Amino acid sequence: MSTTLELKLLPEVESFLSQSPLASFVGGESFPNADGNLVATIDPGSGEKLADIHDLSAAEVDRAVGIANAAFPAWAALSQQERSSILLKLADAVEERKAIIAQIEALDAGKIESQATGDVQNFVDTLRYFVSLAEKVEKRTKLDVEGHEAWTVKQPWGACAFIFPWNFPILLIGWGISPALAAGNTVVIKPAEDTSLSAIYLAQLAKEVGVPDGVINVVTGRGAAAGAALTNNKQIKRMSFTGSPEVGQLVGEACGRNLVPVKLELGGKGAAVVFADVDVKATAEALVGAITFHTGQVCCDATRWLIQKDIYDEFVGCCKELMQNVKIGHPLDPSSQMGPVVNLKQRERVLGYQNKGQAEGAECLCGGGPANVDGYVGNYVKPALLAGSLDNIAAREEIFGPVAYVATFETEEEAIAMANDTDYGLANSVWTSDKDRANRVAESLVAGNSWINAHNVFAHGVPYGGINKSGVGGGVLSIETLMDYYRSTSVVRPLG
Ligand code: NAD
Repeated sequence: MSTTLELKLLPEVESFLSQSPLASFVGGESFPNADGNLVATIDPGSGEKLADIHDLSAAEVDRAVGIANAAFPAWAALSQQERSSILLKLADAVEERKAIIAQIEALDAGKIESQATGDVQNFVDTLRYFVSLAEKVEKRTKLDVEGHEAWTVKQPWGACAFIFPWNFPILLIGWGISPALAAGNTVVIKPAEDTSLSAIYLAQLAKEVGVPDGVINVVTGRGAAAGAALTNNKQIKRMSFTGSPEVGQLVGEACGRNLVPVKLELGGKGAAVVFADVDVKATAEALVGAITFHTGQVCCDATRWLIQKDIYDEFVGCCKELMQNVKIGHPLDPSSQMGPVVNLKQRERVLGYQNKGQAEGAECLCGGGPANVDGYVGNYVKPALLAGSLDNIAAREEIFGPVAYVATFETEEEAIAMANDTDYGLANSVWTSDKDRANRVAESLVAGNSWINAHNVFAHGVPYGGINKSGVGGGVLSIETLMDYYRSTSVVRPLG
């Protein structure tokens, strides 16, 4: 670590990183691999190595699934109150260690520290939400069937597997595993190889606060080996994958072969439809804020900004000024507004899409290209605003960086058709002061989620999921998600 950063690290973070190489955590203990293969995890803000993690083999991942299945009967047999009390202890412990976990996450994922703090709190809130929801679930439902006594009973499934991406590691772990654990399942988590540190820390903490061994397991390593092994394992009872559509297809194929139920939460290419009756400056601020939040590495971002013709010039003028003034810096620098992208590959991807978009005729209205941050050799890029035909590659494909593509429309029908002309279906927003139009357009956008006069709105209780290339069989954050983690058995006795 650089001396500059060393000065800023919490002693608990130093101590955690000093465990490097950090092993997986399975069955309540450190779970090192046998062959000694490691993956380096890098601070994207400085390019320096934070730690090494273990790269598990397929056989080791299979062993972890066996351990999670072995721990299941005892966990499932606890009363709901007993399970709640253990999980709430974990939520409290994560909240107490919020600053530590947030700093680990900020360093590992290149996330502005205050945003990482919000992600950790979100984990805590999600766990508490699902624990409270599970307490209200009626496990037996009597059915009114003539001539029969009949009911259904809800049971947890067993060991549930989770594969996560690198953009919101701890937050997405919370969204994924909380309903599964609250319903009485055990979990095997495969974090992204770039950002496994908060998952390992969480598993160690779970052990410390008394979560029974084998209930929360973390297997680390590369996607093509450790990830694929998890998806190919026939003993997992459910799979939840969050990541790119390309890998999602592979995961879906593998689970299909084994007839394992799968949820896929995938990428997006959302639109913001902005009508001329908005407060132009406030809307520009909100959308520039969204595209620069976590350096645009947000699946549900609005990356296609569709602006009604009358306000186009004023809107673009505001956006240019805002984008040029975004303070880019290291995630632990409190004055930074936008950090780096997660790794060199992602930096090349973002810059590559800007180049390909311009080569296909898009105009770069502002920004774009690499950014320099004094004192750090990190993966920094400038936010960019492109304009042109919506057939352009930069307007059609997910870039996953701080790049917005702007175009104009004249009528409401035209705007809806433009927004819906995409393979994805994750999240869009409509911006107008006309409430009826807002509601009408929001309901006409073909995606899992529509927001009005806001973007990236998440609330526990509101289902969030994608359709088409953005996801299948999924959705998080609501009662429906909790229900996914119960299987239902019907019981019938003919009368007389
Ligand atoms: P990715 O698909 O490359 O990787 C995701 C995870 O899959 C990682 O843990 C990786 O190790 C693993 N993996 C890779 N190859 C695998 C294989 N063959 N078998 C099994 N697992 C494998 O995605 P990423 O680059 O980490 O994340 C970015 C993508 O995630 C974007 O498309 C983004 O939109 C999407 N995302 C979606 C949501 C959502 O809720 N819909 C949330 C966050 C991110």
